[in-house]
Amino acid sequence: MRNFVFIGSPGSGKGTHADLMSERLGILHISTGDLYRDEMALGTPLGLAAKKLLDQGLLGTDEMTEQLLRRRLEKPDANHGFILDGFPRTLPQTEILSRILQERGQKLTAAIFLKVPDVSVIERLSGRLICTHCQKTYHLKYNPPKQAGICDECGGKLHRRADDNPETIKQRLKVFHAQTGPILDYYRGERLLVEVDADAELPVVSRNLEQAVRAFLGL
Ligand SMILES: [Zn+2]
Repeated sequence: MRNFVFIGSPGSGKGTHADLMSERLGILHISTGDLYRDEMALGTPLGLAAKKLLDQGLLGTDEMTEQLLRRRLEKPDANHGFILDGFPRTLPQTEILSRILQERGQKLTAAIFLKVPDVSVIERLSGRLICTHCQKTYHLKYNPPKQAGICDECGGKLHRRADDNPETIKQRLKVFHAQTGPILDYYRGERLLVEVDADAELPVVSRNLEQAVRAFLGL
């Protein structure tokens, strides 16, 4: 059983790489963002409480995320391990995760950090376009749609998310660095940190990631 945590700034592609690695290793990809979305779609008490917070521009509380995560790990498809994406984001959340794992008699295999310089993040995110209909993402420069402003898949209108403008991205990065610095130090101290150069095209990063993990596991 192998359990991984993915750490990366907005626009680092960590969701995509967590997905690819989960397919490759045959272990579950758990995105806490998805757990929240499912819960809200189901309209459960927790989902409704979370929606209230999100509508005010706040995030779900650590207690909520812990509850969602614990519930998800109870399901049989989590028995082979997991790749966790979106959690932990803060040092207290790191402690929550180690407590959950300890109680389950498990350990973290590695914390994978996808490193992308801020300038690249700003370029990636400020060029990002999202389909209003099917949510497929494009990039003005790296992955443009065939017809400007129109989704290749469904013909939907493409738009730029309100928080994907350079000023907001810089602010998001500031928060990311402030919160993530201590997490990286923590996992480095535990000898669990695997740093991956993620400032490249997707297939290159995918290869860097696989090599770094193999080297870390001694394979
Ligand atoms: Zn679309």
